[in-house]
Amino acid sequence: MRQSLDELLEECGRLHGHLCAGQLLGVRMALLGCRLTGVDDPRGADRKKLIVWVEIDRCMADAVGAVTGVRLGKRSLKFFDYGKVAATFLNTESSEAVRIVALDESRNLADSRYPQIENRKERQFRTYREAMDEELFKVERVTVEYGEMDAPGRPRARVACERCGEGINDGRELRGMGGEPLCRPCAAGGYYKARMG
Ligand SMILES: [Zn+2]
Ligand SMILES: [Zn+2]
Repeated sequence: MRQSLDELLEECGRLHGHLCAGQLLGVRMALLGCRLTGVDDPRGADRKKLIVWVEIDRCMADAVGAVTGVRLGKRSLKFFDYGKVAATFLNTESSEAVRIVALDESRNLADSRYPQIENRKERQFRTYREAMDEELFKVERVTVEYGEMDAPGRPRARVACERCGEGINDGRELRGMGGEPLCRPCAAGGYYKARMG
């Protein structure tokens, strides 16, 4: 990474709208993820190598995106709504992947390390900046389900849902009893329902 922690934090704060402890945690997570997967310059020379899965839609996710340059609209950022402060970093060239989870203990770390600092945010900032990676994160080597249909670039396939008629890209359809293509909401229920009347 070319930028210092402070430079990255400032950028994150600008993009995210405020500077918070979650951003700092996200920056540390992104730096660690890139380092462990051998992605040295994620926004420059290595920008085609990195895919990141985030498991929560909170501050941390914005920081990971800002630091690494991955974007939902470029398919380099994937979102799974698990409600966990966690992210997986994949180097598509080497197939190396690590999943990093923020430890719940890291919250208490700030209180126990700097009880004399009254301001909670300041305690957290100081701690998240200084703590060792092992104190903040659990790291595991993983393999990720990642195929041709998940990769950046032009859509690989497009079919229409037999029931609602809406188009579905990249093999995200399911199949009905007769093998007909169905979108996920039609086949299995979605997050929305049409309003009657
Ligand atoms: Zn925030
Ligand atoms: Zn449908």
